Formats: sequence, structure tokens, C-alpha cells
Amino acid sequence: MSDSPCSLAIPTQAWLSASGLPVGWRGRSSFTVCDTAFGAGHRFISTWSTWRSDANRSERLHYVGFCPADVNPAGDPWLFASDDEAACHEALRVAQSVYAPLPGVSRLDFEGGAVTLTLFHMPLWKALMQAEARVDHYFVDAMLATVGAQTGGYSPYGQLARMAAREASVALPAVDVSSDLGKGLKKAGFIVPTASGDLAEVCVARLRPGIFHGAHLAFPEQGRALSVAPVMVIGGGIAGAAVAWAFASRGRKVNIIDPAFSRSAQGVHAGHLAAAATPVVSRDDDYRARLTRSGVRLAWQRWQALAADARPLQTGTLGLAGDADEVDRVRAALEGGGFPAGWARWQTSLAASLAAAVPLSVPGVLFADGLLIRPGALIAALTSSPLVQRISAAGHRLERADDGGWLLRSAGDHVLAQAATVVVANAAGVVPFLQRSGLLDRAPRLRQLQAIAGQVSYFDTQRTAANPNVVIDGPGYWLPSVDGVNVAGGTYALGAETPAVTQAGHDDIIEKLGAFLSAETIQRLPDAVVGGWSGWRAVVPGRLPVVGELLGANGVWVACAYGSRGLSWAALAAEIIAASVCCEPLPLERELLMAIAPGKR
Ligand SMILES: Cc1cc2nc3c(=O)[nH]c(=O)nc-3n(C[C@H](O)[C@H](O)[C@H](O)COP(=O)(O)OP(=O)(O)OC[C@H]3O[C@@H](n4cnc5c(N)ncnc54)[C@H](O)[C@@H]3O)c2cc1C
Repeated sequence: MSDSPCSLAIPTQAWLSASGLPVGWRGRSSFTVCDTAFGAGHRFISTWSTWRSDANRSERLHYVGFCPADVNPAGDPWLFASDDEAACHEALRVAQSVYAPLPGVSRLDFEGGAVTLTLFHMPLWKALMQAEARVDHYFVDAMLATVGAQTGGYSPYGQLARMAAREASVALPAVDVSSDLGKGLKKAGFIVPTASGDLAEVCVARLRPGIFHGAHLAFPEQGRALSVAPVMVIGGGIAGAAVAWAFASRGRKVNIIDPAFSRSAQGVHAGHLAAAATPVVSRDDDYRARLTRSGVRLAWQRWQALAADARPLQTGTLGLAGDADEVDRVRAALEGGGFPAGWARWQTSLAASLAAAVPLSVPGVLFADGLLIRPGALIAALTSSPLVQRISAAGHRLERADDGGWLLRSAGDHVLAQAATVVVANAAGVVPFLQRSGLLDRAPRLRQLQAIAGQVSYFDTQRTAANPNVVIDGPGYWLPSVDGVNVAGGTYALGAETPAVTQAGHDDIIEKLGAFLSAETIQRLPDAVVGGWSGWRAVVPGRLPVVGELLGANGVWVACAYGSRGLSWAALAAEIIAASVCCEPLPLERELLMAIAPGKR
């Protein structure tokens, strides 16, 4: 093994040409590069800039970077070869300063989504195990040879082969061709040329014909002729609307089917004025914490393009700690989490009161990413693209079409829609729907799905005189005013047959707020009630969402069981599905993808 000139040099266009790049992407609709030594992003900038100036470039460029947590991409200024590279570097620097990287995976889009950057902020061995992409071209260096012992027996080179597209290439420093790096690549199925002896040179290895590991689950639509046909989404609530938006943003047509559209473009969330999307932390950084952290961040990034009256508002969330044990747990989670400064800050009850501009009796943590969301307006906006057609009908069952796709039939057996890609996002309705379609056995995690009704209460802001600046999340939640109303939640009406707003529900919510709002505020609340909204939560044991393609039913995806966190998870789940179908790198670790897959038992 040797120090790699590949990872240290600022790559020139000649270097990129020698590594096979511009030729590789020509004539392609999409091209994915994976850089196992992303460092300060030099190769990303050069690759992007070369791609920009190439008249025959692919329509889209996806770049995956492996980035140990202690390296700050774009934080290392360097000399530029051209003004264009300086512009790309500046765009990366600005994006990174707006979205300070969180532990896990982050995704940044440039040029209207034509260029994407997916960064794995974790040690190299972990990134190799956790990334999911179909890679056309790798940049690697000798660091790869150092990670073998940490992958639990998996060869790091084998992980490259796992993600490699059929004709994938690997650019490696010529000096490493005969070292462990070259030998490891050969063993994993790459044809590695002999070195010329010039240490500054780059060598290109290629996946041996017949080695392609394309049988794995992600990227099902690759190579299918139907990929320009509209996507069918069943259910136009939070989950379905987010999926429609994710596909429409990628230029795909969508038919979204929901009987509630006959009443309003806001569907069942018409009149649902406000809700919250809130990160959580746990001492062991469990799946829920990781999914929520990524999901809230992605909701903010993705839904910024919506009209001002529908996009999320980044007010921040104050997550209150109820007792001494919870204070200890949260503080330990913050100290051990490796989060960027400013993402979460511990607040005494006095500091919390000042941050919220409302007197509070308990301490907590202020999450800068916390969002105030207007669910009704959000759904209408997410489904308002000219590429999205809302269809007011109830889907009854799916049936195989003659062309290998799927037909959606109504209860009267009429065909409502046809598609190669179907996303079932009808919350608790998913179980009878899949049962009627003969597909429920493909989703064992959904068998124990439970529907729980609940309500939020609305309070006249003028009468409460306790309008917070931030979302306050404790035993109940208390939200900044929307349309002159403070929304508070929520109730859990176990066993209720229909959701309803009731006086008992208002009383229950006021009692929950009593755990953190002042006694004077609580006294004013009963006379300040001006209504509410009620709906369903669909939950499975473990309280994680169920998102993924059904095994053995190619093209049928589910996106449901979002419980009380639909607004935190919807954008992430939608990105996972749309990115998989469109063969893009996935914005989540494989471990988490498996944890939420419908087939997991
Ligand atoms: C009182 C209350 C307060 C909440 N507050 C928050 C909060 O602050 N933050 C948060 O993140 N989450 C909150 N939630 C949870 C959140 O509302 C859910 O997680 C979210 O709505 C789930 O999205 P969904 O699309 O799966 O379900 P829904 O939004 O319920 O949408 C399901 C849709 O499927 C449609 N459908 C059903 N059957 C069919 C069919 N056969 N064909 C076509 N369409 C069909 C329905 O009409 C409906 O429109 C709250 C929930 C409740 C009840």
C-alpha cells in the first residue's frame, strides 16, 4: 500500500479523461459516480465542472461520496483550474453551510436536480456496507485496503462489485495496481490493467462481463420499457402526496387516487391547520431517531419549492423533558451523538421559556430543524403539479395487466388506472386493499397494523395570550399560531370506530398541556377553544414506517404505517421510492432500508 496521488491531487480534465469519465457518461440518461475518498470534494467539483462543459453529457449526474465524520467537505479551500470550478465549489460550500451535515446520509441537489450529491458521513468501512446505488464509475484509493478487518468478513472490494452497474469502471492510482488495492479489485471480479510505472497516472479497471450483481432489490425499473408511463399512487394523504411530488419533481407523470379529493384538494386533511415535524434523539441513536433526523431535514429541503402558504416553516422545535430520567437520557444522547453545533441545544426551563416566548415549567432541547407544517395546504400543493392528476375514487384491488404492469379496479370492477409502478399509500386501508389484491402475504409487517383515531384542538390565539415562537413538544404539543389559531394535540382514541372532535378530546389535550404551560395559560384555554380536526394514525408494532417494494410483486410499493410521525417521514419515504424506481443512489443506509421494508418479519 502507498500514499495515493489519486486522493491528494486536484484532478485536471486530462486526469478525468484518463480515468474514462466524459466518454463513460456520453449518450446516457443518468450516470452515477462513487468516490470512496471524497475528502474535501475536489473530484466532485472537477467531475461536475467537466460534465457541465460536455455537450454530450448524460441528462443527470449522481455523485456518491464517502466522507468520514471528521472531514468537512467543501471546508478546504483550494486553487481552481477554471472559473467554472470556482462556481461549483461555491455552490457546494453554500449548500453545506445551509445544511450542516448530520451523522448518516445527506443529499444535496444542484442544477435543478440534474446533479445530485449523496454523502455518507461515517467511517469508510461503514459507508461501503451501508450505501445503496447502481454505480457506473468509481474513484478509489489505497485507503480501501485498510478497511478489510472492520467489515466483519465482507471484502470492501466485494461491496464495490455489489453496487457496480453492468459495465462499471474503477479509476485507481496506477501506483496501486500491484498493491493490495489492485489485487483486491481483481479478486472481486474487476479486470485490472498492468501499471505503466508512472506514479502520477490513473488506471481504469472494469467489471468482468458476467459478474454483474444486478439481482438485488433496489432499482427494479432499470431496463423496463414502461419507465415513462405514469406512476399510480393509491391514497392522497400525507404519504401519497409526498410520493406524487417526488416523482413529479423527477419529471414523471403521476395518477393519484383518493375518494377524499371529491371534497377538497386537501383530501382528508382539509381543515387540518397545523402539525409538527420534530427530530428526536436517543442514547443509542436508534432507528426511529435516525429516520426522523433524516426525514425532517429532507422535508425542509424538498418542500422549500412549494408556494409560500404551503411550504414548511422552520420554527425550530423545543422537545421538553418530562422528568429527571428523561433529562439524563436526552443530555447523554446529545453529548454522544456527534451532531453539528446548533442542530440541537440543551435549554434550562428559563432558556426554553425565552426561546419559545412562552413561560415553560420544564427544560428541554431546542432542535433548529423542527418544522411547523400546514398539512391541508401541503397536500394540495404537493399534488398541484401539472404532471399530477388527482382522481376522486376509491381503489378496491390491484390485478396484473397483460403487459406485466398493474390495473387498479374500483369496487364496481371498473379500471381506474394502469401503471408499471404502483405506490399503495392508503394508511390503514392498506391491509384490506392488499388482501383483496392477493398481496398481503408479501407484507408480513403490515399484518398487525392498527388504526388509532385522534383529534387536535384549536384555540383562538388572542384569547390564549401564549403564542410560542417555536413548536413545543411535550406530553402534548402546542404550536405557533396559524390563521389566528394555536393548534394543540393530540388524543389517542383507542378502539374508536370513527375519528371525531369532542369536548372530552379538548379536555384531554388541555390536561396534557398542563404538564408544561403555566397555570394562567391553562385557565384561559377552555374558553379559547374554536374547533379542531380529527383523523387516523396507522401503526405497526415497533412504530417504524413500512416502506418498500413488495417481494415477488414487482412494481408494487407500500408507503404507510407512519403513526404519529407522518410529517417527519413522508418526504424521506417518498425519496426512497422515487430514487429506487429512477435508479438513483438511495438517501438512506441499507440497515434502515431493511428495518422499514414490508417484508421484514
Ligand atoms: C390528531 C392527529 C394529530 C397528528 N399530528 C401529527 C403531527 O403533528 N405530526 C406528524 O408528523 N404527524 C401527525 N399525525 C399523524 C399523521 O397525520 C399521519 O402520520 C399521516 O397522516 C399519515 O399519512 P398517510 O398518508 O399514511 O395517511 P393519511 O394522511 O390518513 O391518508 C390516507 C389516505 O388514504 C386514502 N384512502 C384510504 N383508502 C383508500 C382507497 N381504497 N383508495 C384510495 N385512497 C384511499 C384516505 O382517503 C386518505 O386520504 C397526527 C395524526 C392525528 C390523527
